[in-house]
Amino acid sequence: MEKKEVIVEVKHMDKRFGSTVALNDVSITVRRGEILGLIGENGSGKSTVTSIIAGMQKADGGEMLYEGREWHPSSMINALENGIGMIVQETGTVPGITVAENIFLGEIEQFKKGVINRKQMMRKAGEILDSIGASHIKPQMITGALDLQDRKLIEIAKVMSKNPQILVVDETTTALSQIGRDIIYKIMEKMKEENKAVVFISHDLDEIMNVCDSLTVLRDGKIIVTFAKEEFNEDLIKTSMIGRELQGDYYRSDYDGRYDSEVVLEVQDGNLGDQLIDFNLQLHRGEILGIGGLSHCGMHALGKVLFGAEHMAKGKVLCHGQMVKDEAFAMKNRIGYVAKDRDVESLCLNASIKDNIAAGGLDQFAVSRFLILPGREKAYVQKQIDGLSIKCQEMNQYVSALSGGNKQKVVFGKWIGRGSEILILDCPTRGVDIGVKQAMYQLMYQMKKEGKSIVIISEEMAELIGMVDRLVVMKDGRISKEFERSNTLSESDIIQYMI
Ligand code: ADP
Ligand code: MG
Repeated sequence: MEKKEVIVEVKHMDKRFGSTVALNDVSITVRRGEILGLIGENGSGKSTVTSIIAGMQKADGGEMLYEGREWHPSSMINALENGIGMIVQETGTVPGITVAENIFLGEIEQFKKGVINRKQMMRKAGEILDSIGASHIKPQMITGALDLQDRKLIEIAKVMSKNPQILVVDETTTALSQIGRDIIYKIMEKMKEENKAVVFISHDLDEIMNVCDSLTVLRDGKIIVTFAKEEFNEDLIKTSMIGRELQGDYYRSDYDGRYDSEVVLEVQDGNLGDQLIDFNLQLHRGEILGIGGLSHCGMHALGKVLFGAEHMAKGKVLCHGQMVKDEAFAMKNRIGYVAKDRDVESLCLNASIKDNIAAGGLDQFAVSRFLILPGREKAYVQKQIDGLSIKCQEMNQYVSALSGGNKQKVVFGKWIGRGSEILILDCPTRGVDIGVKQAMYQLMYQMKKEGKSIVIISEEMAELIGMVDRLVVMKDGRISKEFERSNTLSESDIIQYMI
């Protein structure tokens, strides 16, 4: 296929954050009339390289050309004024002001003749919202009262009002419903037709293969390969993302979804502020139960409640009919918990791998509170290190020196080692690479087959669909929908009950 005209060129770009090398000799070509996809595991450098193009931060080395000229944006606003706009991964609107004020933030001056002409500003904001297909959002509305999707659409309206030549969309679509996604797809298609360019970042492989004309894969801050559309191949892309072939199944391959009828853990009429409202939930023997929702729906609080780490104002948690009154009770009854914020809650970073893993298994090698059998302790820890292939120099190494994925394996090792019968996992695969993820999924499935029970709380729809027997969707402290395991369940089926 004939190559299109180059609009932006990144050449040999480097960027560090302290000792982290975020970008290492990265070169990327963005062409007119094309949607370029960027894909790579978390932390591979996607947001860093695009935010440098869009003026949010500066590179340490290398150069950028925009329409053949050297490109040194001084800020995001400067970049946008020159035709490069970016929808950032994090939310970027101010909650306390109107939609129109957000759209014109930093440039309200244009409506000022003595006083600000609000009517004119509202009208213009309305026109912009209409033009992107978001006329359901009214310019007078207070931004903070809108949901995440509408706030994202406001950011898009703001960027599109500047009629950019290049639009960067950084992991925006994941949190949106099909309606929101369609709006973005339409904008991208239109830009393409107008011979402008789009850089699209998403970790949804299907989506990216559908939407993009070419796809650049990043790994550990380096460019691995660029595929043209006709070369797109799911296995090849995955393999290039992780640097080796995935062996066997990624998620579990069965759609059976059977489990025992025995209830092992349950919440009865639970109430906890606006996090849990008249909440009832049952976990069964041999069940992988998924909990999905937006991050403030109450699901993270639920995880703590199930482990006795958070107490409800009303209602109770029962494990085999006995009240789970605190964490000590939970641990004694073989309940394990992997917190979302694992650095803070699940691991002692200033202790060794050995001490962290051993902390879960004291009863297996301690003769009394004061007498530990060192040989047995070491063997216990080594077994977990080997079983989970934790990459470390030795077991006395500090946990703080490990990568995210290996830290997470240490947490798993701690709970699996102690023979947990019930595991509560809050975003267990957040920030870990595909290889480690696969290992965790296999472990979870293995545990299920052994009759153990797992609650997995996740913001990642694909892993819930891929792994759970039953999926409970939460919204505003309540269950909004329940799905049985099925091979026809799609992300958009679920997302509509989250928002
Ligand atoms: P991606 O968007 O592909 O998930 P990022 O570009 O956000 O990856 O990050 C690349 C690497 O740089 C990661 O290791 C990340 O932790 C690190 N990093 C990114 N931004 C910062 C920052 N502001 N301070 C320190 N480290 C950062
Ligand atoms: Mg990112």
